[in-house]
Amino acid sequence: MSDNDKSVAVIGAGTMGRGIAQVFAQSGYDAYMFDTVPAALESASKQIGKMLSKAVEKGKMSAEDAEAAKKRLHLVNALSDIGARPLIVEAATEKLEIKIELLKELQTHVADGGILASNTSSISITQLAAQTEHPDRFIGMHFFNPVPLMKLVEVVRGLQTSDDTVKRTIELAKAVGKTPVECNDHPGFVSNRVLMPMINEAIFTLQDGVAEPEAIDEIMKLGMNHPMGPLALADLIGLDVCLFILEVLHRDLGEDRYRPCPLLRKKVLAGMLGRKTKNGFYSYE
Ligand code: NAD
Repeated sequence: MSDNDKSVAVIGAGTMGRGIAQVFAQSGYDAYMFDTVPAALESASKQIGKMLSKAVEKGKMSAEDAEAAKKRLHLVNALSDIGARPLIVEAATEKLEIKIELLKELQTHVADGGILASNTSSISITQLAAQTEHPDRFIGMHFFNPVPLMKLVEVVRGLQTSDDTVKRTIELAKAVGKTPVECNDHPGFVSNRVLMPMINEAIFTLQDGVAEPEAIDEIMKLGMNHPMGPLALADLIGLDVCLFILEVLHRDLGEDRYRPCPLLRKKVLAGMLGRKTKNGFYSYE
């Protein structure tokens, strides 16, 4: 692997993948983005264009830098066309079967000595790493939503992840302007183990008729100094993603306090997944 190869492949162009591709592209990396759904790639490219234009309008980026970032973003329609990359960040749908199948193929696209990272919110990094031939070079690179704005990258060390992989991942996160914080692989890592029970409890509070969504969110915002209420945050994350994470916590930690609220399940069954479907606990029409 050439040390000069400033390129990355981002797999999945949904809420997270598009943000990850954007931060790499605006930090001087050629970002190759693949999704099985061509419309997702198109929509990602449009949204990234809009975000970059907004950054120019607000004076946060020069027009030349925005144009250069757009040029460094490459939409790839077939996985075989992503080439060999020193870093691949998998940000596909949070389903174990999808990730396992993808990783088998992705590992053939990692350049010699390169790193394969997953942005999973809750699937075991150790388990995903075990699907690959180089578990020492597999790591969790957990970005936060919206990726261009959120500073944190939770760097999740699987059982077999090497010190060198952790060190290089921390450097990469810093190189794209993020603040990496290391933790060990365990259900929900640190972030979701602490966050999801709060979101779940807010949904139980709504289900029990204690207050309307707006009131629950306002109380948490003003009373706890949170920038956003838990129900609005659940809509931003995606209610399907929240349900999946809670199911992992419930199953893997085996404690009732992680039991997903039935109202959350109902919303997901109804296809009301939050902002991405324009309705969840709030309407975004
Ligand atoms: P999303 O549903 O918005 O997007 C997922 C994308 O993956 C879709 O466009 C889908 O077409 C694509 N996809 C599915 N199978 C694929 C495959 N085999 N190859 C390539 N693309 C494929 O989901 P998201 O919210 O962007 O989540 C992506 C990952 O990021 C998940 O692992 C999730 O847990 C994690 N994550 C999500 C958040 C969040 O706030 N949404 C935060 C941190 C991490």
